[in-house]
Amino acid sequence: MTIKRVFTGRNVVLGDGQPQTATVIVDVTEGKILDVLNTVSVRSDLPEVRDDDWIDVGDKYLLPGIVDAHVHLNEPGRTDWEGFWTGTRAAASGGVTTLVDMPLNSIPPTTTVANLEEKRSAARGQCWTDVAFWGGVIPKNQAHLRPLVDAGVRGFKCFLIESGVDEFPCVTEHDLRLAMDELTNTSTVLCFHAELDTARTTSAAAAADGADPTLYSTFLASRPQQLEVDAIALIAALHKQYPSLRLHIVHLSASAALPLVRAAKAAGLPLTVETCFHYLALAAQHVPPGRPEFKCCPPVRDAANREALWGALLDGTVDCVVSDHSPCVAALKRLDDGDVMQAWGGISTLGLGLSVLWTEARRRGVGIGRVVDWLCVRTARHAGLEGRKGKIQAGYDADLVVWDPDAETQVRGSEDVLCAQLGRGASVLMPLLMCGRGRVGHEGVA
Ligand SMILES: [Zn+2]
Repeated sequence: MTIKRVFTGRNVVLGDGQPQTATVIVDVTEGKILDVLNTVSVRSDLPEVRDDDWIDVGDKYLLPGIVDAHVHLNEPGRTDWEGFWTGTRAAASGGVTTLVDMPLNSIPPTTTVANLEEKRSAARGQCWTDVAFWGGVIPKNQAHLRPLVDAGVRGFKCFLIESGVDEFPCVTEHDLRLAMDELTNTSTVLCFHAELDTARTTSAAAAADGADPTLYSTFLASRPQQLEVDAIALIAALHKQYPSLRLHIVHLSASAALPLVRAAKAAGLPLTVETCFHYLALAAQHVPPGRPEFKCCPPVRDAANREALWGALLDGTVDCVVSDHSPCVAALKRLDDGDVMQAWGGISTLGLGLSVLWTEARRRGVGIGRVVDWLCVRTARHAGLEGRKGKIQAGYDADLVVWDPDAETQVRGSEDVLCAQLGRGASVLMPLLMCGRGRVGHEGVA
């Protein structure tokens, strides 16, 4: 027997459009959306629905669950950095109902089918959201790529600069060509950490005399925009030789690289680009000394760069927004001595992204429909989950978020020092209700 649950309200965002009146009828047993009506229903319209399963959200927003396509859960191997249990709970707390896990920082990395199976068995029984997996491209693992596609990875990630962990080495142009030969006739996507250090800027800056390692500016000087520009120039040149393969730039920070992206898109190449909440909300000049919490690679840059990224998001050059949630243990973050140069690079915003982005979007007069497009519709498409995730539509998974756009909260330092900066004065999400797939035991969309 089908048990129905009904959500009805006046501000329902079905996908990339404006909020509208709608009633969403869910099959609780299957976790699927049965029907979407363009009216606010009343109880007598659907007498078979029990009172407990009738949810009128009124003027609050009803949104599709967020698909965060860039998350590092580090289990197995570095579960003390973040594992499936804690990471997926953080995700669910902020309206993320699907996350796609990056192939590195767990041990082993997701570079073979056997390693993917280790990841899956580590996840089993621990997940509060749906979880899918990216595979990894590293030197000499080309023979594993097709089997990983068949085993369900959503695509692949590679690095053009050292990744920060020994078990996930970066690739050369030669390695890339071998990988692209393998993947070229698949529908998969190859994602790039796009920094290329041809001039060895990072090591030169780190060794520079007199540079204070606790200053954010020292770190910023070691990762100039040119690293991203050089990487994307290489990717664009390769793309012309593999024009049918979907390529994707993860966590774009450098606005100087936007002309290259625009040129590739104008040439019709299937290139997509993501940026992150922190690049759209923070500015380098506001980072206090001795605060490695703000370190990530590529770095948060200045306010003018942030505004250029906003422009690129609004004009479609940048496709979507993700967290790049990448935690580590406190000792590696060097919170004790504030050494930004030695600290682990990674920012943790899983579960805070909607509030951060909404705060910044609203300030710029951008509506919730655009935000849902960037966080749900396009991230689902990027991860090959369109048709199932990212929209409120009949036949889709019943991943729903009820959200109060006017509520405010302050994220406390005890929860996350960085987020105290990001969340101050934020209009914040209130994931009052989630239903359908977002519950314990659903770890597999991959
Ligand atoms: Zn990442």
